[in-house]
Amino acid sequence: MLDLKRIDTYMDKVSQSQEEVFPSSGRLKTGLDLGTAYIVLVVLDENNQPVACEKKAASVLRDGVVVDFSGARTIVQELKDKLEKRIDRELVECAIAMPAGTDSSVRTHEYVAEGAGFEVTNVLDEPTAANSVYQIQNGVVVDIGGGTTGLALFKEGKVIEIEDEPTGGTHLSLVLAGNYHVSFEEAEKIKQDYSRHKEIMPVVRPVVEKMATIVKKYIDPSETDTIYLCGGTSCLTGIESVFEKVTGIRTIKPRDPFLVTPAGIAMNCIVSG
Ligand code: ATP
Repeated sequence: MLDLKRIDTYMDKVSQSQEEVFPSSGRLKTGLDLGTAYIVLVVLDENNQPVACEKKAASVLRDGVVVDFSGARTIVQELKDKLEKRIDRELVECAIAMPAGTDSSVRTHEYVAEGAGFEVTNVLDEPTAANSVYQIQNGVVVDIGGGTTGLALFKEGKVIEIEDEPTGGTHLSLVLAGNYHVSFEEAEKIKQDYSRHKEIMPVVRPVVEKMATIVKKYIDPSETDTIYLCGGTSCLTGIESVFEKVTGIRTIKPRDPFLVTPAGIAMNCIVSG
C-alpha cells in the first residue's frame, strides 16, 4: 500500500525548494524534465533530500520530442544558472527521462542537457522515474502532463507495459479558452487557479473523462486495484474522482503531484566519487 503521508511530506518539501534552498553536503543529484508545457530542474542531495528546484513554462517540445533545440538549451542553461546562484555550487551530473515511445530522441535530449553544461549520467523512462517516488509494487501510474498522458503498468516493482496518449492539460486549456472566450494564456491562468477548479470542472469534465476512458482501455481490473496519478494536470481538484468513476478503480494522488516525475528523475542521477 502506498504511504501517501510519506509522499505528501516529501513532495511538499520538493515544492518548497522552489522558494528556499535546503542545506546540503556531499554530491548533488539533478533531474532534468523536458516537458511539453514545462522544463523543470530538481536538485537533491546524495540521500535524495530536496535542495532546490526551478521550473519554466516552455513550448520547445511536441509529443515528447524537442522541436526547438536552441530554445530548450537556452532555458535549461537559464534554470541551471539560477540554481547554481541560489545554491552557490556548481551542478555537474544530471539524469534525464523519456516519455514512452520516444527512445529515438534520447540523443537530442542528451544534447540539450550537455549543451547547457551537464554531464548526463542516467537516462530512464518517465514512469520509472515517477515510481522512484511512489515505490509501488503493483498498480498503474498515470502521468498527466501538458501534451500527453503517460501510463505505466507495474508488476512486482517493474514496468511491464508503457503507453503514451496525446491528450493532456493543453487540451483542457483549449476547451476553457473556447468556453470562456479568452486567450490560451488566460485559460492556463484560470486552470491553475485552485480557487476556480470547482467552477471549471463541469467545462473540462468531458476531456478528463476521455483521458480516463483511454486509461481504462489498458487496465485489467482483475489485475489492478489502484491508479496512482502524477503530472501537472493531476493538480486539478477532483480529477481523481472522475478517473475513479470512469474506470471503476480506486484512484489516488499526492497533495502536490506536479513535481513527482522530475523529483524521481533526480533520484536516479548517478553521482561519482
Ligand atoms: P508532457 O508530460 O506532456 O511532456 P509536461 O512534462 O510539461 O508535459 P507537466 O509539467 O507534468 O507536463 O504538467 C504541465 C501541465 O499541468 C500544464 O498543462 C499545466 O497547465 C498543468 N497544470 C499545472 N498546474 C496546474 C494546476 N494547479 N491545476 C491544473 N493544471 C495544472
